[in-house]
Amino acid sequence: EHQIHIIGGGLAGSEAAWQLAEAGIKVKLSEMRGSGEMTPAHQTEGLAELVCSNSFRSDDADRNAVGLLHQEMRTLGSLIMASAEKSKVPAGSALAVDRDIFSDHVTKALENHPNIQIVRERVDNLPEAGPTIIATGPLTAMTLAQSIGAATGEDALAFFDAIAPIIHRDSIDMDICWMASRWDKVGPEGDGKDYINCPMDKEQYLAFHQGLMDGDKTEFKQWEKDTPYFEGCMPIEVMASRGVETLRYGPMKPVGLDNPRTGRWPYAVVQLRQDNKLGTLWNMVGFQTKLKHGAQVELFRTIPGLEKAEFARLGGLHRNTFINSPRLLDEQLRLKSAPHIRFAGQMTGCEGYVESASIGLLAGRFAAAELQGRTLDSPPITTALGALLGHITGGAEASDFQPMNVNFGLFPPPEGKVHKKQRKEAYTSRARADLQRWINGEPEAIAAE
Ligand code: FAD
Repeated sequence: EHQIHIIGGGLAGSEAAWQLAEAGIKVKLSEMRGSGEMTPAHQTEGLAELVCSNSFRSDDADRNAVGLLHQEMRTLGSLIMASAEKSKVPAGSALAVDRDIFSDHVTKALENHPNIQIVRERVDNLPEAGPTIIATGPLTAMTLAQSIGAATGEDALAFFDAIAPIIHRDSIDMDICWMASRWDKVGPEGDGKDYINCPMDKEQYLAFHQGLMDGDKTEFKQWEKDTPYFEGCMPIEVMASRGVETLRYGPMKPVGLDNPRTGRWPYAVVQLRQDNKLGTLWNMVGFQTKLKHGAQVELFRTIPGLEKAEFARLGGLHRNTFINSPRLLDEQLRLKSAPHIRFAGQMTGCEGYVESASIGLLAGRFAAAELQGRTLDSPPITTALGALLGHITGGAEASDFQPMNVNFGLFPPPEGKVHKKQRKEAYTSRARADLQRWINGEPEAIAAE
């Protein structure tokens, strides 16, 4: 008899199953592939199949947030990281794998574990009772998605992401941009100066509009267009194609925004809105796009004030099933309205193979602790695991929640003055020390005042 039911044997579900089984908990893992079902992106019956790239991105644990996440997961006995190690192919400073060897390794490790029973079946309803982890990923089968929507409220479940680019605040030129809300309107949280505004004159706007039309784009796949919820998605370049003025009446509307340097409204604006509680990240409002990443960087750096913009995330628009985690989940990844259910993986609003697996790792550890009558505190927000978890369960703005990769903008900035060159190392060495304290069960480091 199992003690916990995990639904979905992808990156997150596999890692969660491993962590629980290693803690001595009996796991049932349901995976629909292998029962005659498939998602539009998967091609095999293997667990933890990589549906696209074979890269886990940077493996640099000193200077890169995802590299740091790799290291933290290895420290915590991650099956996904161990399997990546066994299937590694040359990729410079990145960690890339042979996808078949990788998936095979994960599948065999789980099949051979005495505490894991793998059942090839599609699950259509959220279980009403019993500890459960939902890890069915960005392409969750529709019937289960509808059952989740019924439990969370339709408006808390998305079928597409609409990812606007996110910029590190300290890379924005505030000698050109200014803070203001339209008509200086004071909202419940703000002070009438909530947005960063980037001004454009007519010539700049026309060039920018042309750039949107000409830029290299990724096409929607047919199965994305076949998803019933497709109509709601409009990339900025599609809006631009409806007419040269359309954006000036939409996301680039300048009315009510006096530029303090001219005393007048600019011809057009790009507005940035605060994206996290720390105030380190700002998103380009309305700029979800299918432009290729290189084309985005090139074009968006022509926006006045963003010439040196550093992007924490570039824009996108994909089929992606995810819930409004900041609103729905507690800090232990439990559904507040039905705490026997945890969510893990990309459904929680993290983005990417490694991030999904890492949230699976945490869901597994939280669940194991609960089943054993222990409490496991969340990892400190200064670690990669803690920063990502903190973002999806509370740090992100719930009203416009969109998927996120791990990046240093999710971490509190290091205390004291740190030279720009040493900044990344300051994040990662602090993270290592704090992760070790967490593992040892010590209280978080208290910043010396
Ligand atoms: P998955 O790995 O998708 O696992 C979910 C599992 O649940 C699947 O095995 C599925 O078959 C199963 N399942 C679904 N519904 C049910 C059900 N009702 N009952 C039982 N089982 C079910 N990330 C990157 O880092 N790099 C990339 O290049 C990349 N490319 C991507 C391309 C596409 C087309 C998509 C959709 C995503 C891509 N991602 C990429 C994101 C990546 O898929 C996820 O980050 C990662 O696989 C998510 O892990 P997960 O465990 O949450 O979901």
